[in-house]
Parts: sequence; C-alpha cells; structure tokens
Amino acid sequence: MNQNAVLYLVVPCYNEEEVLPETAKQLKQKINTLSEQQKISPKSRIVFVNDGSKDKTWQLIQQYHQEDEIFQGVNLSRNKGHQNALLAGLMTVKDCCDITVSLDADLQDDIDAIDGMVEKYYNGCEIVYGVRNSRETDTFFKKTTAEGYYKIMKLLGADIVFNHADYRLMSRKALEGLEQFEESNLFLRGIVPMIGYQTGEVYYARKERMAGESKYPLKKMLAFAWEGLTSLTVRPIKMITACGALIFIVSIIMLIYSLIRHLTGATITGWTSMMFSIWAIGGLQLLSIGIIGEYIGKVYLESKHRPKYIVQEYLHDEN
Ligand code: UDP
Ligand code: MG
Repeated sequence: MNQNAVLYLVVPCYNEEEVLPETAKQLKQKINTLSEQQKISPKSRIVFVNDGSKDKTWQLIQQYHQEDEIFQGVNLSRNKGHQNALLAGLMTVKDCCDITVSLDADLQDDIDAIDGMVEKYYNGCEIVYGVRNSRETDTFFKKTTAEGYYKIMKLLGADIVFNHADYRLMSRKALEGLEQFEESNLFLRGIVPMIGYQTGEVYYARKERMAGESKYPLKKMLAFAWEGLTSLTVRPIKMITACGALIFIVSIIMLIYSLIRHLTGATITGWTSMMFSIWAIGGLQLLSIGIIGEYIGKVYLESKHRPKYIVQEYLHDEN
C-alpha cells in the first residue's frame, strides 16, 4: 500500500465568510503536519466548494488559492445544497488524488480524526466513517431528533451508519463506485454504504460551530430527513400493504361476529351489512393501494439506475 497518499480535503461552503479564515488556517496546519510526519504526500490539497454563496466566500477562496497553492476552489453556478456541493467537489478532484476526506466548513467535526482515517486507509479500508461518540454540544432537541431519525431509518430498512454524517474518508476506488450511482435525490450517507469495500470507523466528539450560523434550519433539516427516507427505502409502501391485509382479515372476523349477532337477533336492520362493508371495503382499498404502490416502488428504484455490482478486483493475464 502506498504510504504517501495524496489527500484532498473537500469542504462545501455556503455563506461561510465568518468561519473560512480560521478553517483555512487550521486545515492547512493539519495537512502540513500530516505531510511532515510523512503520513500523506506533500501534494495534498484543501478544496473549498462554493455552493452559490451570497457573501464573500468565493472571493476569500480565490484569495487563498492565489496566496498558496495548497488551497483550491470549485465554484458552483448557484446554490444546490450541501449534498450536491459535496458530490461536485468529490467528483471534480477524484482523478487528482488517492483519498478524499469530506468535512463541513464550520469544523464541528474534529479534524484530528483525519489522522485515524488515513491510518485506516493504509490498513486497507476504502471508506472510513467519522462517527460522533458524543453530542454534548447539540441541543436536546437536535440530539433526540437526530438519534431518533437514525433509529427509524434502520427500522425502515435503510442501511446507514449510526451517528455518522458526511465526515468521511473515501478512496479513489470508492469514489469511482459512487460515480456509478446516478440518483438525483442525493442522500450520500445512505448511498455510500451501498458501494461496499472494506470500511472502518473513527470516533470523535462533535464540537460547536466556530462562527456564523447553521445553514440547516429546521425546515431544511426536515426536508433532508424526508429526502433520506424516501430516497432509500420503499418499506413504507409495504407497511400500507400489510395494514390493508390486516384490516381485511379484521373485516372477515367482523363478518362472522356480525352474522352471529344477526342470527341471534341482537341487531337492528342494516347493521350487519353496514359493518361488514365498511371494514371490507376499507381493507380492500388499502390493500389495493399498497399493491399498486409496490409496483410504483419498483419503478422508482429502477429509475435510479443504481449499479448492479461494482467489481473490486479482476485477476487475469495481461494479454
Ligand atoms: N452547506 C452548503 N450548502 C447549503 C447549506 C450548507 O454547502 O445549501 C454547507 C455549509 O457551508 C457547511 C455544511 O454544509 O460546510 C454543513 O452546514 P451546517 O454546518 O450549517 O449544518 P449543521 O452543522 O448545522 O447541521
Ligand atoms: Mg455545522
């Protein structure tokens, strides 16, 4: 394994003029230290992706790039959201480097975890997830909703790493795998585990935002959570089908019960047929919607054109 990997840090930035100077300083220090320790190549870089910022973010990035070639910049034509900005950055640098680490511009994720990620890469991991082991700096609300969300996602069959956001190392191989996913509803932390390969985890404590405000207000957060759920799993449709089937079974029990009541004469006219039809029709309708939904779910998954497989190695003769 190449012990001199070229590392590119990919940092999506949206209106981050307040934190960018400090972020640039700290990341540069990190890269320099790592390359002095000969853990990474001196050709390693820091890439800021400007996601259509309305403030001076891009001017700052341009200035850093001019002052020092360690800084690079990717400017998106308009604001496309964190996930798209991140993907844009990763795909732009994919062919120039051996490994990438994606992280937020506010440095909430402890950059000292990068050392561990790189080490895991040398030990054979193609993807290394940064996992938060404490959420002390998060508000109670954020902590409970976020952790609850991870649990619901797991329950609904989406394979995501608990308490991992978008702080991760990906090797070039992993990025080439990611490139084959053509989905436009992008929820990276759900797609990355689908790539496969050997993966590892590095734990760190999440800090507070250094400066500026969160670019993820509640509305954006909810939209993002919904996006993740609906883009990864069609299990809710299966739940509707199951619910319909259950109600239909209940309707048959109701029919038997109503018939008994009817035959023992304990009902008024019309009650038996009313009861039965309400349950049976309701159940049948739900069941039918569920079945139609199953097909729509299939069409939905097909339309994503996900790769059917990714070849890890091909042993063959050279001729
Ligand atoms: N971000 C982005 N585009 C957006 C919103 C956010 O590129 O439309 C970036 C932002 O600059 C930061 C990262 O995504 O680097 C995470 O955002 P933030 O720290 O505000 O989210 P939080 O940590 O509050 O969840
Ligand atoms: Mg943040």
